[in-house]
Amino acid sequence: MRGHPNSIYARDVEYVLHPVTNARKHEEIGPIVIDRGEGIYVYDDLGNRYIEALAGLWSVAVGFGEKRLVEAASRQMSKLPYYHTFSHKTNEPSVELAERLVKMTPARLRRAFFTNSGSEANDSVIKMVWYYNNARGLRQKKKFISRTNAYHGITIASGSLTGLPANQRDFDLPFVPVRHVTCPHYYRFAEPGETEEAFADRLAAELEATILEEGPDTVAAFIGEPLMGAGGVLPPPATYWEKIQAVCRRHDVLIVADEVINGFGRLGTMFACDYYGIDSDIMVLSKQITSSYQPLAAVMISHELYEGIADNSGKIGTFGHGFTASGHPVPAAVALENLDIIEEKNLVENARRVGEVMQDELRKLADHPLVGEVRGVGLIAGVELVADKATKAKFNPVGKVGAQVFSRAHEHGLIIRAIGDTIAFCPPLIITEDQVRDMVERFRVTLDETA
Ligand code: PLP
Repeated sequence: MRGHPNSIYARDVEYVLHPVTNARKHEEIGPIVIDRGEGIYVYDDLGNRYIEALAGLWSVAVGFGEKRLVEAASRQMSKLPYYHTFSHKTNEPSVELAERLVKMTPARLRRAFFTNSGSEANDSVIKMVWYYNNARGLRQKKKFISRTNAYHGITIASGSLTGLPANQRDFDLPFVPVRHVTCPHYYRFAEPGETEEAFADRLAAELEATILEEGPDTVAAFIGEPLMGAGGVLPPPATYWEKIQAVCRRHDVLIVADEVINGFGRLGTMFACDYYGIDSDIMVLSKQITSSYQPLAAVMISHELYEGIADNSGKIGTFGHGFTASGHPVPAAVALENLDIIEEKNLVENARRVGEVMQDELRKLADHPLVGEVRGVGLIAGVELVADKATKAKFNPVGKVGAQVFSRAHEHGLIIRAIGDTIAFCPPLIITEDQVRDMVERFRVTLDETA
């Protein structure tokens, strides 16, 4: 019934502006209607089943159709469907979740601030850091340093931290003061013959030079995804984070770990900061916190930041920042149940164990004529397709082959994400070894048909 004017396809094209979509192309090809989900699978309205190899948008840890989350939401909605946390009000699920997150995250992080989305969380980070530095009398210390290919969100401020041209071009971003240093992608940016350690030294030196050029008294914070996600799944080279951290500490530059994709087991450890030994001042969490059954993000801050903010709010009369849904009891209740499931089903350990299988299976594709690099940790991976394996030459135009693979994969019952010509994998944490093999086999067939 695609052609019918009253069909969902026609009405979608008529009435909806889709996020992160080519609107003109959408008018031509119309939508795929996702109707329901079960485990690692989603079904379209025609009954076709797909492996959701990106867990939605890197987010559905416990799989689709998890009734316990539905019941947790329903219980909370029946009792208290909404309340805010402004002006000294609170509610039990949000307190319980804050306590649980403080106890789960690295010891230096001691308070949680809740928002609806990762973008709002990173906007909140910028405002909190500015507020804190103003409270310290460091009114010039306001600039952020981010990285090319970073993704930190889409709002005016978080979109300024993002380092992807498509999210900035013709939106007049960046809008807040930010510098972007080179992203730690060894395959693309290391010099010939350079070791991972030497590459990490060079990137740390670049960061230090940037701080010195701007003036350390003007640079507030460095923000990074421990393992970069939406920019192409980029695990850092060996020793990268310890060197970046040392530079930041030397210049009183706060470290913000954006764990919106990495957090809650993706790399086979609860947080990527545990995996890379990052001692951050701020950690940003979202997505897998509720398996995205409800919108929620959390900004975790250190004791020092909290004390600065609390002092200043005492002087001014309020910490004048917050959202209608900050501390909303329903997403908090869903998050608590979701974290119970992650623990009871040992999903972090599953991500480590099954993640090894996924990395091994994908690396078997390294000899494929289209594959330049296979990279990843745990249950997150990227397969970069290239025009020429020897020279690493990209396709012209960039993204052409990625888009073909993306579309063709649908015919093999596989939903992946194409980031330019890099194919991203980030399946639900519940995935089994057999399902991983099935997923990679579908991808291999797709690649063979594309080559
Ligand atoms: N930070 C990272 C690392 C992300 O990957 C994302 C979204 O993909 C965000 C922030 C923004 O989150 P949201 O889309 O919930 O605003």
